[in-house]
Amino acid sequence: MNRKGLSEDEVFSLLNMEIQKDTSYDKVLNAMCTRPHPIAVKAHMQFIEANLGDFGLFKGTKELEEKVINILGDLMGSPDACGYITTGGTESNIQALRTARNLKRKKHPNVVIPASAHFSFDKIADILGIEMRKAQLDTEFKVDTCSVESLIDENTIALVGIAGSTEFGQVDPINKLSDLAMSHDLFLHVDAAFGGFVIPFLDRKIDFNFSLNGVTSITIDPHKMGLSTIPAGGLLFREEACLLPLEVDTPYLTIRKQHSLTGTRSGAAVAAAYAVMMHLGMEGYKKIVDRCMRMTHRIVEGAKELGVEPLVEPVMNVAALEVPELDAVRKKLHEKGWVTSITRNPRGMRLILMPHMTEENIEVFLSDLGDCIS
Ligand SMILES: *Cc1c(COP(=O)(O)O)cnc(C)c1O
Repeated sequence: MNRKGLSEDEVFSLLNMEIQKDTSYDKVLNAMCTRPHPIAVKAHMQFIEANLGDFGLFKGTKELEEKVINILGDLMGSPDACGYITTGGTESNIQALRTARNLKRKKHPNVVIPASAHFSFDKIADILGIEMRKAQLDTEFKVDTCSVESLIDENTIALVGIAGSTEFGQVDPINKLSDLAMSHDLFLHVDAAFGGFVIPFLDRKIDFNFSLNGVTSITIDPHKMGLSTIPAGGLLFREEACLLPLEVDTPYLTIRKQHSLTGTRSGAAVAAAYAVMMHLGMEGYKKIVDRCMRMTHRIVEGAKELGVEPLVEPVMNVAALEVPELDAVRKKLHEKGWVTSITRNPRGMRLILMPHMTEENIEVFLSDLGDCIS
């Protein structure tokens, strides 16, 4: 640290230098986060001091959190759901499986997850000491429920289904997983970190939430397709009893108990999530999802015209394309400013059509893709 402090101007000239190195979202096709809605940013700034780690001091912010949980619960098929606003999908997934582990009390617990599960489950295996058993996928990259069933044994505590997989945007057959979970008396955690703010707004109806009786918990992230500010993740449980195994006593705060993983946590992100959900409403999100889906279909159709086929017809705003000489093409696209990513198995070009993308830029991308593959 400097001995003498710098002036505000000097500090901002340092910051401005660095922010220029950050990538602007305009040509970003690999991210599941996006520019937050302006109203979310405004609300975030208004509540910048609020610490929900000690919510006795921030009663209004705490009420906002309860309202956000009610809205998310309603969106996920159960207005009575309980939970809290986390730092993101990773924390939500950790806490959901921590509850399952603490309630099931097995010496060598295992959880059956799809091979397509997000890498947060690798962290969970390490932190919680749970074995992750990876079930195979079918030809459409949904989990194969026969494979799931074959991996269940007396030490299994939970199943995980993905509603909107990170690589393919695919939705597992949650209804079948729900039946399996009920017949084997297991927790079923649905990871809808990305899909939670997409699937309810698709024209095609897909069952994936608390409307299925076997679903015990859901991850749904306002800081992805919810257009809220970072860090806002959502963890929902069907029953209040699921929060109890997460509680610890907090002797020196204004509250008695805390069930979050982090101590100090952002009230600003909660206010932001509330503001943007109240402002957009169901109709606002539907418009946004409709537009993202139109761009997704356009990119797939445009790629087909170039002789590039999708690995699977997109369910959500994620396209996976079978691009020849993938690494070389991605490198050339990057030289033109495009940030893309890959699917691992099978290998393909992965493109996420987030709200920051524009119809005009999709046409530029398709023309650049054409140049890069020829
Ligand atoms: C993004 C994502 C996560 C992780 O969420 P973070 O907010 O990055 O911690 C987990 N699961 C799925 C399916 C995701 O798309």
